[in-house]
Amino acid sequence: MNITLSSGKRIPVETHKVRIVQKTDLAPVTRRLEAIGAAGYNTFLLRTRDIFLDMLTDSGTNAMSDNQLAAMMVSDDAYAGSESFYKLADVVKDVLGFSWTMPVHQGRAAEHLLAKVFIKPGDVVVMNYHFTTTKAHFELAGATVLELFGDEAMNTQSTVPFRGNLDIERFAAAIKKHGAGKIPFVRMEATTNLIGGQPFSMKNLREVKELAAKHGIPLVFDGSLISENAYFVKQREEGYAGKSIGEIIHEMMKYADLFYMSARKSASVRGGMIATNKKEYYDRLLAWLPLYEGFATYGGMSTKEVEAMAVGLREMTDVNVAGISPQFIEYFVSRLIENGVPAVTPAGGLAAHLDAKRFLPHIPQSQYPAGALAAAIYIASGVRTMERGTISTDRDAEGREVFADLELARLAVPRRVYTLSHIEYAVDRLTWLYGHRDLVRGLRFVEEPPVLRFFFGRLEALDNWGAELARAFEADFGPDM
Ligand SMILES: *Cc1c(COP(=O)(O)O)cnc(C)c1O
Repeated sequence: MNITLSSGKRIPVETHKVRIVQKTDLAPVTRRLEAIGAAGYNTFLLRTRDIFLDMLTDSGTNAMSDNQLAAMMVSDDAYAGSESFYKLADVVKDVLGFSWTMPVHQGRAAEHLLAKVFIKPGDVVVMNYHFTTTKAHFELAGATVLELFGDEAMNTQSTVPFRGNLDIERFAAAIKKHGAGKIPFVRMEATTNLIGGQPFSMKNLREVKELAAKHGIPLVFDGSLISENAYFVKQREEGYAGKSIGEIIHEMMKYADLFYMSARKSASVRGGMIATNKKEYYDRLLAWLPLYEGFATYGGMSTKEVEAMAVGLREMTDVNVAGISPQFIEYFVSRLIENGVPAVTPAGGLAAHLDAKRFLPHIPQSQYPAGALAAAIYIASGVRTMERGTISTDRDAEGREVFADLELARLAVPRRVYTLSHIEYAVDRLTWLYGHRDLVRGLRFVEEPPVLRFFFGRLEALDNWGAELARAFEADFGPDM
């Protein structure tokens, strides 16, 4: 919940108590320099012992509730027919309105099955924006991914509330150009991850559904961040302020023919699922489930996580649960902007994002400004962030570099894990780094994997700039910070 202090300042305040804590240490800057060098300047390859605040991702890193942990203790470990599954299916019916539920081990497993069952070579999959694993799976199945975002989507200094909208005119033009028969489905991603956690509006979803239905194109809803999208609809869209998160989710689901999610985000567990009211879709997907994931009642998930997912799905309809990360992110972004640091606006749903093109304008995209920024942030703070830019975009079929639309360093705010003083610490060190941005230079690949290269790729700092940055930091803060 947001509270206005007597000074007039607004701050987010937690509506939960912290009963279990986990120790974290801030390694000195010389150790951080060593660690990022050993990690090939790739924050994915750092070890958590060297990380103070882990803002890599909100995926599978959220704090679970007492009720989720308690549910794990009563899970029913059966290979087939587990009661834990039936509890999940009941909650899915209740919260999302779908009669057919299929657990999968995580979000990308759902994408893999969708690709396997619905995509033929030569197909064109329309979406508001891609996610890394989505695009890789759909392209591997032979499809082209067509992202039909609006003009505002790539403006990182925007005041438009729904930058995750799909452009209806472009969608109509795409249907005309490719023919509905070539479009197996249109995919709407809630709180678009790679655009900076930006939501779509209910109005946009409704219009996409209407146009798609007119041409017999099913709507697939990626609901990994569904509760945050619902929270933004409540906050930002006319006519929804008085509706509950549960009611908004129900309305969104009316437009979805097929739903899938990574439950690692909004539902705060490690797993995923597919749900639908179309028995035919369920049957076609189910045929492949045991081969790739597991039996219909666990789908590759631990039954403990299946239990916790049922609880997490219900809890995410609480406005204070749905809103906790958007509210912290809004505070984070507003503090960065106050200090002149180029953060992406409006604040989104899973992370604060820095615009690396504006933070490091002297680094060309061929030298990966977002990757350089993520490495520099780690050296300057011990905070781990994620590159979401050209390194996260694989080369094309001819091996040419594809420059990303946006170069972002993402500071994820896992739900209920960090406090306001952690956020203030990050703001302070990011502000210091911005003041010393000229010391940061580009990166070069030394080992480059062919698919999803951002995970395991190794790079080096051009002109050894990391050492120079660490020296400047030590001069200002001393050797122990
Ligand atoms: C995380 C995510 C996925 C992939 O899910 P995993 O559980 O990481 O496999 C797919 N879509 C969106 C929008 C996501 O945020």
